[in-house]
Amino acid sequence: MSGTVGQVIHCKAAVAWEAGKPLVIEQVEVAPPQAMEVRLKILYTSLCHTDVYFWEAKGQHPLFPRIYGHEAGGIVESVGEGVTDLKPGDHVLPIFTGECKECAHCKSEESNMCDLLRINTDRGVMLSDGKSRFSIKGQPIYHFLGTSTFSEYTVAHVGCVTKINPLAPLDKVCVISCGISTGLGAMVNVAKPPKGSTVAVFGLGAVGLAAAEGARIAGASRIIGVDLNPSRFEGAKKFGVTEFVNPKDHKKPVQEVIAEMTNGGVDRSVECTGNVDAMISAFECVHDGWGVAVLVGVPHKDAVFKTHPINLLNERTLKGTFFGNYKPRSDIPSVVEKYMNKELEVEKFITHQVPFSEINKAFDYMLRGEGLRCIISMEE
Ligand code: NAD
Ligand code: ZN
Repeated sequence: MSGTVGQVIHCKAAVAWEAGKPLVIEQVEVAPPQAMEVRLKILYTSLCHTDVYFWEAKGQHPLFPRIYGHEAGGIVESVGEGVTDLKPGDHVLPIFTGECKECAHCKSEESNMCDLLRINTDRGVMLSDGKSRFSIKGQPIYHFLGTSTFSEYTVAHVGCVTKINPLAPLDKVCVISCGISTGLGAMVNVAKPPKGSTVAVFGLGAVGLAAAEGARIAGASRIIGVDLNPSRFEGAKKFGVTEFVNPKDHKKPVQEVIAEMTNGGVDRSVECTGNVDAMISAFECVHDGWGVAVLVGVPHKDAVFKTHPINLLNERTLKGTFFGNYKPRSDIPSVVEKYMNKELEVEKFITHQVPFSEINKAFDYMLRGEGLRCIISMEE
């Protein structure tokens, strides 16, 4: 790989030219990494609903042409000036939110909202010089979430790249770089259900099922899965979901249905849909006195969360989290180790696999609500 160090790399990338239009595989130029940046060879990437939201750009600021993708596994090709933590050949997961290790958030035990590198969905350029590292015949192509993994090579800030065990299979652990860690962490790090408690999970996609997996690991006794898509229910049993509620099957609000099922409300709930009504239901279905609700889904930019303040006064707690409160560089290697020691099963999240040339199929599966994660293999 050393032949490419310091050179522009010409490779394939899936470019989104317009909102909602199929991606086009193009030959792109990828500039060398600048100070505190690394250039990665992506081997496997997968599709998360956040990519789809920003590609559809219905409720989000449109920014095109852009290279999406943020759930991936790869190998460091070269490093820019000042990078000491990573070297060519390291196995890594790029992460959509970063850890500079120097700011007040990175130094706080409670936060993963790094001042420098926290998730920024509007930025399409690199931090150091405000420019893109991708171009097509000189025309810049925007980055997404600082990762842009739908490309054979990409450039990321070193603080958004986690070095992992080189023995971990990248075609499996790539899903740990976003969805699985987000759901798992939202449950075990933020909701923290006590052993024997009753938990509700709204949205049974990969993120919600990872939250259910976290509840099972924490020893919850009842895990109530809520989804509008009944085809989600059968598969969810493998993730420890014990009961199902489809809001469409009931005339009354789903929070009332859950309160009746649980003698007043669940102990913990985690929302993984991105729908603001589901967020409100997820909050209002927790038990007064001790219930905790955690929001994870990314809402429409104009969505407003409304609830009666009495619901909070009655000692319900509302929280939200990005990336399950994990610090990308400090904590994610240990989540990969949980997979290596067989505490965490990631295979059951992987339902489809396509070569890079068929990346648009992964979008079709997600838009049809089919399956959980589709792995896109860069080396066909
Ligand atoms: P997904 O599309 O695979 O799953 C979402 C599920 O929610 C679907 O099964 C859908 O039927 C269900 N759903 C939608 N509206 C609903 C409603 N009103 N009530 C009940 N169920 C409903 O998506 P995913 O990849 O699992 O991601 C889930 C959410 O998490 C998305 O909003 C995504 O953007 C967000 N996300 C957040 C973070 C974070 O750090 N906060 C990270 C990754 C993903
Ligand atoms: Zn920081």
